Amino acid sequence: MIFSTEVKQELASVKTEKSCCVISELNALTQFCGTMTLLGNNRMNLFYRTKNATVAKRIFVLLKRKYAITAAPRLEKYTRFGGQRFYILQLNQEDSHKLLLALHILKTDKGALTFRGVPRRTLIKKCCQRAFLRGAFLGAGSMTTHGKGYHLEFSTPLPERAETIRKILFKCDIAGKCIQRRGNAVLYIKDSEKIAIVLALMGASQALLQMENIRAQRSLRESVTRMTNCDQQNLNRQLTAAQRQAEAIKSISLQKGINHLPKSLQEAARLRLSNPDVSLEQLGRLLSPPVGKSGINHKMRQIITIAKNLTDRTVMGND
Ligand SMILES: [Zn+2]
Repeated sequence: MIFSTEVKQELASVKTEKSCCVISELNALTQFCGTMTLLGNNRMNLFYRTKNATVAKRIFVLLKRKYAITAAPRLEKYTRFGGQRFYILQLNQEDSHKLLLALHILKTDKGALTFRGVPRRTLIKKCCQRAFLRGAFLGAGSMTTHGKGYHLEFSTPLPERAETIRKILFKCDIAGKCIQRRGNAVLYIKDSEKIAIVLALMGASQALLQMENIRAQRSLRESVTRMTNCDQQNLNRQLTAAQRQAEAIKSISLQKGINHLPKSLQEAARLRLSNPDVSLEQLGRLLSPPVGKSGINHKMRQIITIAKNLTDRTVMGND
């Protein structure tokens, strides 16, 4: 998950100038990273929980800046789960109430408070949609690179939240896929081009550059490998052909002697035996006078035919 950490670090330092976008990002962070509980008598409890210190810092700073709320930070450590650490930001009841109303996550219904989905007003403007995506990724996103590709996902226990992300992405022509995994609704994207767009939308331009770099390096490496494989195949083919020629000459030499060959082929046969690894062109150049590739190829084919005829005759017992 190295890539996730890098992306989150970058997103957590994106400057949000506009008030509408701060509200939208905080809304997403609260939906995707917060735990809200109604305690009765209109009292409530809200805290944020994240494994990522920079995300915790981002929430702390945005709450302070936008709503003058000071969250109480603490660290939870789980010795049982490989020593996992969680950063907790706890809001007192008064601040929880104030914030959830301000973010329109709570609504008053006949004097009683109830939760609502993501308010539409938070997502009308393009700038706010991007801020919401950023907050959602900081709260519940991850990005990994594996084999040849990338994988970006948002994971949340509530399917309607995954649906909100799906709708925002859909407006940007990005079709995310939804699955259920271990009790969570997971919205994921696998297409590298689309992932690049999502990174750009959220404001992770450095991560985007890094991804493009890796993609460029990968494609360069792949073409080098392709070329090397191709060269290797040519070399293998060349060696197999040379081997076949040498075998034919040895067989003639054993059965009849190289002098059995027509004079025009004898020199080529001897040269092939003493130069088993050279290409046909190189072999042709060794002849006196030198001949081209097709000339030497023709000679070698004649030698192979003679060897084959000799062997056939031996097998049939005519010789
Ligand atoms: Zn905005």
